[in-house]
Amino acid sequence: MKVNKRYSRINDKNRNEEIVLLQGSGCFWKKCRFCDYYLDTDSLENIIDLNNSVLDSITGQSGWLTVINSGSFFELPKKTIEKIKKILIEKKITDLTIEAHFKYKKDVETLREELKKLGITLHTRIGIETFDIDYRENFLNKGMGRPNLSEITETFDECCLLFGLPGQTLEQLIKDINIATNNFNSVYLNIYEERNRFKPDLELINEFKTKVYPEIKKIPNLNILINNTDLGVG
Ligand code: SF4
Repeated sequence: MKVNKRYSRINDKNRNEEIVLLQGSGCFWKKCRFCDYYLDTDSLENIIDLNNSVLDSITGQSGWLTVINSGSFFELPKKTIEKIKKILIEKKITDLTIEAHFKYKKDVETLREELKKLGITLHTRIGIETFDIDYRENFLNKGMGRPNLSEITETFDECCLLFGLPGQTLEQLIKDINIATNNFNSVYLNIYEERNRFKPDLELINEFKTKVYPEIKKIPNLNILINNTDLGVG
């Protein structure tokens, strides 16, 4: 899997932040039908070297760091996680956003407590994709199970939605956006681009662009990523 850029600065309607796209061990799950992100991995030695060089770009200027990787934060090498913690302290960063699968809920809470003692607030982003549970679990094979919304929001305060796959509808997307923007601080709507498993529904995506996008683009806590490099990394 080719990645062109792993460090970026974002100054958008929600917040200023630095974002890094690191390499991990490749996701414990690897079964989501739309995904090939977990192919962004290498030998442990190479992963650590690559991550070190990316992390060296962080300035701490905005006080907020977002770390994403090819899976969950807890699949980063221990040495990388230690380096991130060191940078947070050295650069006086007060907010850290990570991504994690629902199965890492307990690890998120442990990390949150650890960072809290250092004066750092942890924000956690989850790839929910859609609140249509049958579609998410039976078709996308997300592996989250069927937790209720409060079980998710007690640990995760940011979420990603995915739209443009076969079988999705604009009606469900509008429901998803309402639920997500009313229950999460930040929401990232990713428009599906062709990856290794299936083709995007281009007709549906075009309908989204003309009928839905103009209505939702001003929602303050909704970030719409038409291209998967719109956060400046990827
Ligand atoms: S949990 Fe994330 S990285 Fe893992 S297979 Fe699913 S979408 Fe891909």
